[in-house]
Amino acid sequence: MRYLPDRWDEKKRRSLKKDFLAAAGIFLLAVCCQYVKDTLADRADASAVTDAPGEGDLKKQVALTFDDGPNADYTEELLTGLKERGVKATFFLLGKEVEKYPAIVTAIKEDGHLIGTHSYEHVNLCNLSDKAAIEQVNKTNNAIYEVTGEYPEYIRPPYGCWKSNLDYETTMIEVLWDVDPLDWKTGNSDVIAKRVTSKVQENDIILLHDASESSVKAAFKIIDKLQADGYVFVTVDEILFD
Ligand SMILES: [Zn+2]
Repeated sequence: MRYLPDRWDEKKRRSLKKDFLAAAGIFLLAVCCQYVKDTLADRADASAVTDAPGEGDLKKQVALTFDDGPNADYTEELLTGLKERGVKATFFLLGKEVEKYPAIVTAIKEDGHLIGTHSYEHVNLCNLSDKAAIEQVNKTNNAIYEVTGEYPEYIRPPYGCWKSNLDYETTMIEVLWDVDPLDWKTGNSDVIAKRVTSKVQENDIILLHDASESSVKAAFKIIDKLQADGYVFVTVDEILFD
């Protein structure tokens, strides 16, 4: 008999322990369920943000490039329009013109655009000896450095012709293009703009020249249309290395 109370206590203790474990189990299950529910809700919220119409569009990048400047008649008009629209572009300059119009080059730099090299006097670098081609590049780079205090890193070779060994000889990074509306062949800015906006895609580099009224007007039309479509204009380094 003297074991009865003990055995009863033992039974009661086990029963209490079972109840406690069951309660703890239910509690843990509830906590887990809530956690899973919250996590799924968070994921649903996150995907709702990503999938929201227009959200992804804000990240579409495109780059405008202007060759052959600085131009005494059109570059400043272009800079004004770019500033009004909050657009940064890339200018591939001719060394000879940089020496003639340093104030325009300063304005390009001060507005935050990227400056690259085109060549000194618009020659096809592939038709030159390596030595002469390097001289075209270095002369232009030095002219730009004299004005801006920075050596350019990027080159748009005239006619898109660049010998790959010159990458090492000059340390320049070659930048070609994705969309060429042949703006120098027509005086119609609507035609130029349409040729670009009808085929441009995300991360494309667009080739234009700040060398005519129609090209400048076309640039503004392209910007207005593409900004309305959710594009953001960046300099070529952001397209090439981001
Ligand atoms: Zn050119």
